[in-house]
Amino acid sequence: MALMTGKEYEESLKKMKMRIFLFGEEMETAVGNPILQPSINSIKATYDLAHMPEYEDLMTATSNITGEKINRFTHIHQSAEDLVKKVKMQRLLGQKTAACFQRCVGMDAFNAVYSTTYEVDQKCGTNYHENFRKFAAYVQENDLVVDGAMTDTKGDRSLAPSKQADPDLYLHVVERRPDGIVVRGAKAHQTGIVNSHEVLVMPTVAMGPDDKDYAVSFAVPLDSEGLVMVVGRQSCDTRKTENTTLDVGNDVYGGMEALTVFDNVFVPNDRIFLNGETEFAGMLVERFAGYHRQSYGGCKVGVGDVLIGATALAAEYNGAEKASHIKDKLIEMTHLNETLYCCGIACSSEGTETASGNYLIDLMLANVCKQNVTRFPYEIARLAQDIAGGLMVTLPSEKDINHPVAGAYIKKYFAGTSTTPIENRFKIMRLIENLTMGTAAVGYLTESLHGAGSPQAQRVVISRQSNMPGKKALAKAIVHIED
Ligand code: SF4
Ligand code: FE
Repeated sequence: MALMTGKEYEESLKKMKMRIFLFGEEMETAVGNPILQPSINSIKATYDLAHMPEYEDLMTATSNITGEKINRFTHIHQSAEDLVKKVKMQRLLGQKTAACFQRCVGMDAFNAVYSTTYEVDQKCGTNYHENFRKFAAYVQENDLVVDGAMTDTKGDRSLAPSKQADPDLYLHVVERRPDGIVVRGAKAHQTGIVNSHEVLVMPTVAMGPDDKDYAVSFAVPLDSEGLVMVVGRQSCDTRKTENTTLDVGNDVYGGMEALTVFDNVFVPNDRIFLNGETEFAGMLVERFAGYHRQSYGGCKVGVGDVLIGATALAAEYNGAEKASHIKDKLIEMTHLNETLYCCGIACSSEGTETASGNYLIDLMLANVCKQNVTRFPYEIARLAQDIAGGLMVTLPSEKDINHPVAGAYIKKYFAGTSTTPIENRFKIMRLIENLTMGTAAVGYLTESLHGAGSPQAQRVVISRQSNMPGKKALAKAIVHIED
């Protein structure tokens, strides 16, 4: 099949029988559920934009495996230019959805597993890379959504995977059979999992020789027996069930996360990409995290563009847009947002070829990118709230606004400039609320902090990549110190 449309993607999801829990109830599909449909809509945008001629260059690529035109979200990056286009595509999607569009996790896992399996095979004589190429070709040909799954629930953080009181706190192999393996464990905070077709699992930390059963990577369809997803709450989530549009802030797009349990899931041999080679767990983690830290230099910037635009409109609707401090705050927001983009582009432009032939971002610059992402969106959000004012959190409900008595008072007393339709002012208030403290704040703020690794994880890599001896040598050379 060539590129799917958003509609075809949605239809393909309906055919899968998943096990999804939400608010104490079990369902087989996320399609049509008011809490989950916005998440599906965001992914639909990754399909529909790929059919638009003006976005074709960013949204599609030529597969190095099949030679066919594919969606860039399933692509194995073949050049530094591909890495740059990836970031530009993510900024575009952030601008179009103002939400997490979820499909990047799989793309980042794809590229990390592709290069790592090649190097495992070189050293260990295994057949993982061929397995993975076959899986990648299947995904590309069918234009599927793959969710990358890394984060184990981790239990006692002071203990290695194999030393936990409950061995399932890290996902591991519980049975080895001639035809495959059986795995048990869970992956937390899985973005977009209920609306993906496949899950690509990777280890979550570097591992020692005792952790053999935990050094495992594989892919299975999300309707596999034993897979269970429990959807996480987002602040203001139930507003989506109230049959109103204004109060949700963004009435089309959204994201979702779920605890994903692998309760004795069978993985056939040709879907295994790592199985006991503990010394490669760290490489896989570092590469996946590196790619995903690059990703945030695109997606968060696109969402930031929407938030900055909304903030400028809030000022305009209040008649405050000419105040010098407002102008300066908008400049500061833009400066912060574009700094993140600089990092995303820089780590991509400096990408280099791996032994397998795909391209890897500059790890130092990708980690600097993500470290900035842990901070700047919070400052951008603070400035947005500063300019928006208190109405963002005290505006009455859409039902009150539409009430003949209450609504008349609300519209009279919350009027801004006389040229601004009052509904527009309310819409922008709710959008800023959604992005900075509502459902979208999961993606724009908390995920900026903890997604792709919490801040300390980047500082560890920055320290390792800093080449301090080289920097000391530079200083010594300037002042003629000879040891
Ligand atoms: Fe993609 Fe950003 Fe969502 Fe991660 S947070 S899946 S990079 S949109
Ligand atoms: Fe993420």
